[in-house]
Amino acid sequence: MSAEQTFHQAVKKSLKNSELQNRTINAAGKHQFAMAEAVKQFSDLELARNRAKYIKWRVNENLDKYLIDFEANLMRKGGKVIWADTAQTALTEIDQIIKKNQAKYIVKSKSTICNEIGLNEFLRSKSYDLTETDLGDFIVDGFNEKPFHSILPAAHKTKQEINDLLNQKISASLDIELNELTRDVRDYMRDKFYKADIGITGANFLIAENGMVCISENEGNVRLASTFVKTHIVVAGIDKMLPTLQDVDLFFSLLSSYGNGQKLMTYNTIVGPKGIDEQDSPTEFIVILVDNGRSNVLSTHDQREALSCIKCGACHFVCPVFTQIGGHSYESNYTGPIGSIIEPLSHGLKEYNHLSNASTSCGKCNDVCPVKIDISNHIIRNRRDTINLGKESTGEKLAWYTWTKAMLSRKNLNRSSSIKNFTFKQLYKADWGVEREFPKIEEKSFNQLWREKFGGV
Ligand code: SF4
Repeated sequence: MSAEQTFHQAVKKSLKNSELQNRTINAAGKHQFAMAEAVKQFSDLELARNRAKYIKWRVNENLDKYLIDFEANLMRKGGKVIWADTAQTALTEIDQIIKKNQAKYIVKSKSTICNEIGLNEFLRSKSYDLTETDLGDFIVDGFNEKPFHSILPAAHKTKQEINDLLNQKISASLDIELNELTRDVRDYMRDKFYKADIGITGANFLIAENGMVCISENEGNVRLASTFVKTHIVVAGIDKMLPTLQDVDLFFSLLSSYGNGQKLMTYNTIVGPKGIDEQDSPTEFIVILVDNGRSNVLSTHDQREALSCIKCGACHFVCPVFTQIGGHSYESNYTGPIGSIIEPLSHGLKEYNHLSNASTSCGKCNDVCPVKIDISNHIIRNRRDTINLGKESTGEKLAWYTWTKAMLSRKNLNRSSSIKNFTFKQLYKADWGVEREFPKIEEKSFNQLWREKFGGV
């Protein structure tokens, strides 16, 4: 089955699940309320967003330089950079690091890119003892699912489902409402951190001027995964770059406001290789810089702006498509409006352009994006480029040909709207689908409207 067919099947299933839709809409409502409060911290929000957009534009235009600067500065401090052009290269490199260190226990913290490269599945296929330490990811991992949303991975689960899973995972009989479970999960995780040899984290930002890695979180697990272990591996996309340390305060604040509806997340770590006078940091600090299709986005020129995304997930919760079909229907690593741009550009318009059609082009995503990505127009550009690649269905091509030919005749143009509506429906019904209402053709022709307004023949 093609990716497109799988997507359509998953969408059909989700559309019938009104309970899931209610939960998503509920989570979206709460998120928007919290976000509206958090952004009040900016005395001039538009200026902050414009600054962020400009900084990321500068990064995208000079990414080659910033990446080299980052590598040089990290190496100067004693760290190591590994370049991975594909997901498989990143996995092979991680495997080699684990083998070299004869590591037994691995802890991992929340990281979108680790999901992208399929890290959990890979490590488990090699029988490594891996613990997912972010609570949301621990839950979806327990259900053998992918995250539902980039910031709220388990937003689709009910409290009862979570309660049952956690009790089963940590062999207890506790109550999530009474906070007993959270406390016990914390104890369970602590034990894993004490034993761990290797910690694997993602990165929210990489600083070119000093080779440091920035990670923002609420649970403290990233901090433990990056300090208790002997080897800290950071897996980061090449798009995570910021030019200077000074840029970080703006981006930490934007990410937490738009992502979590908080002024600042609880733990904001800027981490790098162990300094000479430091006693207790990991002895090995490795950053794996992953491309995995990002260069394809960069090469588009008019769409490379999509790499500015800071993965806050705000555009998902305002998207009328995401709130109806949910995060799992996309069957891709990056979902929602930004996923509809990035996935087809990174991995092939021909195979993934159906995701660009999962949008109403309402533009709500543009209004809410902290780095002001022109999301809805990039989605339309994807559709344009797919048509240029010749991926339009034969039926649709034929329908447009027939309709255009017919409408070029004055006699047909002046026919009654009911005849035109009927013909339009017959031509397009196969591609339009049964769920969508057909647009109605104006009763009066342009010619009639013009005559009524301006007179003449
Ligand atoms: S596109 Fe913008 S709103 Fe959407 S996840 Fe990325 S930064 Fe957030």
